[in-house]
Amino acid sequence: KSPLLKVSDLKQHFALKKEAIFQPKQVVKAVDGINFDLYPGETLSIVGESGCGKSTTGRSILRLDEPTDGDVLFKGESLLKMNKKELRNVRGNIQVIFQDPYASLNPRRTIRQMLEEAMAIQKVLPPNQREARMLELMKHVGLRPEYLERYPHEFSGGQRQRIGIARALAVNPEIIICDEAVSALDVSIQAQILNLLKKLQKDYDLTFLFISHDLSVVRHISDRVMVMYLGKVVEIADKSSLFNNPMHPYTKALLSAIPVIDETKRRERIILKGDVPSPINPPTGCRFHTRCPFATERCRQEEPLLREVDTNHSVACHFAEELLS
Ligand code: SF4
Ligand code: MG
Repeated sequence: KSPLLKVSDLKQHFALKKEAIFQPKQVVKAVDGINFDLYPGETLSIVGESGCGKSTTGRSILRLDEPTDGDVLFKGESLLKMNKKELRNVRGNIQVIFQDPYASLNPRRTIRQMLEEAMAIQKVLPPNQREARMLELMKHVGLRPEYLERYPHEFSGGQRQRIGIARALAVNPEIIICDEAVSALDVSIQAQILNLLKKLQKDYDLTFLFISHDLSVVRHISDRVMVMYLGKVVEIADKSSLFNNPMHPYTKALLSAIPVIDETKRRERIILKGDVPSPINPPTGCRFHTRCPFATERCRQEEPLLREVDTNHSVACHFAEELLS
């Protein structure tokens, strides 16, 4: 299968404002040369601690932040080379759902007005067929039809996320980027929304890029998982390989911090030293070396490349094989 989305050497560097004339120019390397493919019908999750570049990756793909380098191909066509009009047409195919739907819902518009507007902009269906479509959408996301006449403030967090999903679906997207889409919700509501997303994925043939800091959520929804650290991809694999056989010390540390269902599968705990370093001057060599219990001199000098160590399982660590146990 050919990928729906192909991200190559994507970079997002932000120059910081100089505080003083003599201060050297500082650049935040939020995303620093990442590659991955997104295949039709799959859910690929991006995980990592806050500041690892996962949200920036989503925003760069959509050009909400203009990438500084690299390319993003949608069905073989460069999104970054498109003009505004071409991009607007493609944007109907790639929708985004954010953590806080309230912030992205206009408080002065009813749900009906929002859905109508979204469909009108993307010219989805002739106007006389939009009513039926709206009712279908409301049903599919689990909201009553009379809610169409209400305003965002009249809904709970979970309901608002359903509205956000309905609005995304209104334009017939192929890809939905979910950026911490369930992070603000209670655990029970989270499960409802995750199950809804899974069901809609089947019904509407959707592909998800699912950005989350929460590994339990990721375990629930993903087919593949990509782990980021300080603007780099450190590991990418099928979900089961990643959860059962993590290879990168950072992934192992993240996983050893979450509860396991089967206690016999409890792995040795890797406790990370310190905090995530600043992306302004990231550590040399392997960016994880300042926190890695296995770091050697080589790690401080030489950057490990992402390489396929097992079938569909790539990792960026010099010692991935040796650390397997
Ligand atoms: Fe740790 Fe070295 Fe592997 Fe980086 S390359 S994860 S520092 S062992
Ligand atoms: Mg974020």
